Amino acid sequence: MSDLHESAALSARRLRTRTALLAVLAEYGALSRADLGRLTGLSRSAVSSAVADLRAEGAVTEQPAPTGPVTGRGRPAAVVTLSRDTGLVLGLDLGHAHITAAVGTGEGTVLGEATALLDIDDHPQRALDTAADLAVEAMRQAGCRPDAVGAAAAGIPAAMDLRTRAVRAPTILAKWIGLDPAAELARRLRLPVAVANDAEMGARGERALGAGRGLNDLIYVKASHGVGSGLVLGGQFYRGATGLAGEIGHIQLPGATNWCRCGNRGCLETVVSVAEVRRRLTHVLASADRGNVPAEIPPLAELGGRPAAARVITDAGRTLGRVLADLVNCLNPAAIIIGGELGQAGTPLVTGVRESIDRYAQPAVADAVEITAGTLGVRAELHGALVTAAEARRTVTA
Ligand SMILES: [Zn+2]
Repeated sequence: MSDLHESAALSARRLRTRTALLAVLAEYGALSRADLGRLTGLSRSAVSSAVADLRAEGAVTEQPAPTGPVTGRGRPAAVVTLSRDTGLVLGLDLGHAHITAAVGTGEGTVLGEATALLDIDDHPQRALDTAADLAVEAMRQAGCRPDAVGAAAAGIPAAMDLRTRAVRAPTILAKWIGLDPAAELARRLRLPVAVANDAEMGARGERALGAGRGLNDLIYVKASHGVGSGLVLGGQFYRGATGLAGEIGHIQLPGATNWCRCGNRGCLETVVSVAEVRRRLTHVLASADRGNVPAEIPPLAELGGRPAAARVITDAGRTLGRVLADLVNCLNPAAIIIGGELGQAGTPLVTGVRESIDRYAQPAVADAVEITAGTLGVRAELHGALVTAAEARRTVTA
């Protein structure tokens, strides 16, 4: 290998190391070197040399933790934080058929926003390029320079493995499997990017700004093309051993037999995905209109006053509630907050979920849980991304 090739390979490796460290710092805030190694899978020496480089450039600072474990020599363990302090943050919401970028604050203020409708499933690189273009457009609308944005976070409609940060099956995004969205976005945006699955981002949004404010134990359900949940347990966002917790869409329903995209049969989302509910609504609305198939189904929020349509939605709520009842028995949450496109249906959906919780969960835990539609609607994930990015920035300026 020539010297030139060797140094190119070295700098590519260094870039990956830096991106990985910056991404976990954006996500978690302050971390010890040991935690940086654990979360990125990098060796102690790789972490040590990258932190030294980043400190020399002023990109991170390292200081004793204000509170925390004490080392053997009686000093608090040092923690590394991002030292960028540039005010605003960028939030990205990637959905099955859209991407939205917003520049704003973690308190719910959006200064600039741009959306593109596109099928992100089959073209991951194009989707990521579009996300970066939309970020630039959102900054332009906000009237801010790119260097005024200090951190970014993105919600991705896929299960991601914490160990590799890569998209995992089962997922809508089959062509994204193995891709590291945080690194891909960080490279394009030149910002540290925190990434979480979309349901966790929705949970973060509703907990900070919506129906989950002040609650330490809640289940956020994103019911759209897929069905996923974001779990808040004891005040912490719970991701499980490898980051794949909350995939309730693939819990089996007794008696359901349709094939699921995961290769199994009878999964929850084969019955209550928004596409499936719309299919049934098309049938019901056509029957109600002397067989005329509606050109377009009205927004789900407007169907509560049409009894046949409301029954279809309540029935989907009962099915969803059957699975949630087992979770309620197990986790004893204070609230279930239903978001996503199906969550837009509001009262008829919540009524169905409530019926199943009361029927199948233990009375004491059923009484303890409030069932509600999210107050941020389909913007919960976008606000969750802004909240997450702002948390990373605040850690920096503290
Ligand atoms: Zn499945």
